[in-house]
Amino acid sequence: MSEIITYQCELRDGIHARPAGHIERLCNSFQADVRWKNKRTGVEGCAKSALSIVATDTLFNDVCDITLEGEDARHAATELAALLKKLPDYETAPQEESSGPSGYLPRSLRETQLSFIQGSRISGGVAIAKPVIIYSLTFDDLLARNPGNITAATQEKITLIDGLEALKGEKQLALEIKQGVEHDITQAHISIITDSAFQSAIGEYIENGENCWSAIIRAAMDFCDILNRSSSKYIKERTLDVLDITTQLLTTIYGTEALPQNSLELTHPSIILADSLTPSKFLGINKQWLAGMVLSSTGKTSHTAILARSLGIPTLTDIDFLRLALEPQRDIIIDGNPGILITAPDEQVLRYYRHEIAVQEKMQQQMLATVHQPAATCDGQRVEIAANIASLTEAEAAFRNGAEGVGLFRTEMSFMDRETPPDYPELAELYSRVMACADGKPVIFRTFDIGGDKPVDYLRIGEEENPFLGFRAVRTYPHYRELFAMQLKAILAASAVGNAKIMIPMIAHVDEVMWCREMLENVKQSMRAEGIPFDDAIALGVMLEVPSAIFAIPEIAEHADFFSVGSNDLTQYFFAADRGNSQVAMVYDNYAPSFLRAMRYAADEVHRAGKWIGICGELGASKDFLPLLTGMGFDELSMSGTAIPGVKHALRELDYAKCQQLAQQTVALKSSAEVKAALQTPDVKPASKKPILAPEFLLCGLEASDKNEVIKMMTDNLWLHHRTDNRDRLCDDIWAREDSFSTAVGYGFAIPHTKSDHIEYSTISMATLATPVTWGDQQVETVFMLTVSKSADPNEHMKYFSTLARKLMKEDFRNEIKHAENVTVLYNLMIQTLNI
Ligand code: PEP
Ligand code: MG
Repeated sequence: MSEIITYQCELRDGIHARPAGHIERLCNSFQADVRWKNKRTGVEGCAKSALSIVATDTLFNDVCDITLEGEDARHAATELAALLKKLPDYETAPQEESSGPSGYLPRSLRETQLSFIQGSRISGGVAIAKPVIIYSLTFDDLLARNPGNITAATQEKITLIDGLEALKGEKQLALEIKQGVEHDITQAHISIITDSAFQSAIGEYIENGENCWSAIIRAAMDFCDILNRSSSKYIKERTLDVLDITTQLLTTIYGTEALPQNSLELTHPSIILADSLTPSKFLGINKQWLAGMVLSSTGKTSHTAILARSLGIPTLTDIDFLRLALEPQRDIIIDGNPGILITAPDEQVLRYYRHEIAVQEKMQQQMLATVHQPAATCDGQRVEIAANIASLTEAEAAFRNGAEGVGLFRTEMSFMDRETPPDYPELAELYSRVMACADGKPVIFRTFDIGGDKPVDYLRIGEEENPFLGFRAVRTYPHYRELFAMQLKAILAASAVGNAKIMIPMIAHVDEVMWCREMLENVKQSMRAEGIPFDDAIALGVMLEVPSAIFAIPEIAEHADFFSVGSNDLTQYFFAADRGNSQVAMVYDNYAPSFLRAMRYAADEVHRAGKWIGICGELGASKDFLPLLTGMGFDELSMSGTAIPGVKHALRELDYAKCQQLAQQTVALKSSAEVKAALQTPDVKPASKKPILAPEFLLCGLEASDKNEVIKMMTDNLWLHHRTDNRDRLCDDIWAREDSFSTAVGYGFAIPHTKSDHIEYSTISMATLATPVTWGDQQVETVFMLTVSKSADPNEHMKYFSTLARKLMKEDFRNEIKHAENVTVLYNLMIQTLNI
C-alpha cells in the first residue's frame, strides 16, 4: 500500500532538529517506509532519521512530497499529516538576549576614546580577564589522528554498536539529573546517537573498508556538509552538535588517550577565545575562572550560546580573533551590552570598566540584601511575592531571588518533549527535591496542563478544530485517570516534607472541582493503605482562567481552598482572542476596563467566600499593574524568578490606601487608553516626595581622574539610590548640556545640570574631588549636579541654579564648603544655603 502527502512547510525556521525529532519519533512507530522529498532542493531523505530529514533543507514555504509505503501506510499517513499540522504549535522562539540593542555606546564610554572590535552579543555583562585561546579540533584533525588498527568489518560493526550503546546509556543517565537547557541539549544529542541514517552511513563506510574511527568521522562529515548547505543559520549551527557527538563517540570507543585533551584547566580569571566550543567542552570548563567568551563562529542559537546565556557568562560572537595580536598576560575586556571586545585597554578604559563592574555588583547586592525581607507596601499591606517555575533549577534561582513560595509550578513541562510519560518515582523525586529547596515555604503544584499550545505526542490527543477550546488540562483527566492519580500521589508524597498545595488548571464548572476533590480523596485513601505519609490537610486550589468560573466562585469555594488567576488564559477566553496570535493582539487587552472589572469582581467574590486569591499569569509581574492589583486586594502575585527583586522593591514604595483609590477609579474609566494613562502616571506613592537633597548624594573626596568620570560616578550614584532607571541616558542628557557650554563657574566649582525624562525625583548631588580635574578651560574641585525631573515645577531648576551661583560668588561660602569636615557638616550647610 502506498500513500503520498504533499506538505508545505509552515515553520519559520524550517524543519530543524526539534521538529525533525518529532517526525522521526512518530515515523519510527510505523512499519511503513517513509521517504521525504523536498521539491525545491530535490534532496530526498528517510523520515525515520531526524538528520536525514534536516538534510533535505526544508525551509519555510518549501513544498515536499512524503511517500509512505507499507501495510500501515494509510493509518501512518493520517497520523503524520496530523502531526505536520501541529508542528507550528510546538515551536518556541529561540532564547535571545533582550537587554537593549547591540552597538549603543553610552557617551561616558565614548569619552574614554577607546578602540574596540564590534561583535555581536550572545550574552550581556562585562568581563575583564586574561585571554585564553582554545584551538578546536576539526573533522580533519580527527581524521589525522586515526589509530590505524582495523579488524574485520563485522568486528568493527560490533565495536561501533557497543560504543553507541555505551554513549547512549551515559546520556540517558545524564538526562535524569539534568534540568532545563542542559536537559534539552542532552536530548538532542541522544537523537543524533540513535539516528538510523547516521548509524547506517557509518556502517556503509565500514563495509567499504574503513575502520570504525574513520567511518564515524566520514559519516558525520557527510551530514555536516548537507547541514552546511542549508540556507538556514539555525540548521547550520547544529553541525557543532554533530562534531561534539563524533568526538564523544570516538572517546567512548577508543579511550580518552586517543585524542589530545585540550587544556581547559583554567587557573585564573580567563576570557576564552575559540572558533567554536562544543556544548560538552563548555560544560567541562571550571566556571569559577570563566569570566567571558568570544566564540568566532558560534550562532546565537547554538547550544553553547544558550548555555552561556543561562549561566550569565558575558559572550560575544562574529569576531575573528585569530587575526588579533593578544598578549597572554594582558587583560582584555568584553562588554556584552554593546557587543564589543577591547583587546588593548589603556588605564582609562580599565578604570571605566572596573568601576562599572563594581557599580553593577553593588546594585545586585543591594537588591539581594532586601529580597529576603517580606514583601509589603510602605504602610504594611502584605502581598506575597511568589515564583512561577517549571524545573528544580528555576526553583533554586527563584528562592535565591527572594521568592516567598512557588505560586505556580508548571508540572506539565516534565511530561513534554519525551516519548513516554514520567513515572511515579521520577515525579516523587523531582517534587520532593523542589520541596527541600522551598524549605517550608509554600509550593503550588499545578497539575498537568496538557493540550492547547502544549501538545504531548504520546498522549495522542488527536487533531482538534479548536485546541484551545478543546481537550485540555482538567478536561483530559477522566480520560488519563491513572496518570492524574499518579501525579496526585507524587504531590501528596512530597507534601509530607513541606508545605505543598495542589492547583487545578482550566476549571469551568464546579463539577470538575468536585471530581478532582474525589480523586484526591481516593488517592489519599490508597496511600494510607500503603502506609505512605502525606499532609492530610493539603490545600486544593483552582485556577481562574475560564470566565464561567468567575461567576461560580461561591459554589466552587465550597470545595476549593484558594484561587489563582491565570491571566494569560483568562484574557484570551474573556476576549475570545488567541493569546499567541499577534493579529488579534489589540483585542487581547489587559487595560480594558471590562477586564479590570472582572478581576476586581473575582477578588471581591473570593474574599467574600473567605478564601485567598493570587495571580500567576504574566500580569502578576507587570510594574504598571502592580499598584492596581495591590489595590484590588490580591493576596499573592506569582512571577518569573528574575522579576521578583524589582517587584518587591516597587511594592515597598507603594501606599496601600492610594492603591485602593486607584483601583476604584480605574474600573470606572471607559477606555483602555484612559486606563493606560492612569496606570502610567499613578499617584500611589506616599505623599512625602523624595527630598531634593539627601546625605547619600554628597560625595566627599571622589576619586575621579577627569570630568567624564565625575559625571559618570555621580550619575551611577543616582542609579544606586533609585533616582533614575536609565543612568546612561541621564548621563547623555548631562553631556548634551556640557557640549553647548562648559558648566564650570569659576573658583574651582562646576554646576552640570539637566532637565531630563530619565530622573524620577529631582535631585541635587554634590562631590568634592580628591584631586582637581579639567572642566572646559578651568580646574574644578567641587561639583554640584542638578538633575531635575521633566514633571517638576519649571522654575525649580533655575531657582537652585541661580541661588548656588550667587552663593558661590561669596568667598565665605566657598571656604565653608572647602573646609567642611564631613558629609553632615556639608549637608547642613547646603540645606541652609538652598533653603530646602
Ligand atoms: C495562565 O494562563 O495565565 C497561566 C498561568 O497558565 P499558562 O500560561 O501555563 O497557561
Ligand atoms: Mg493557563
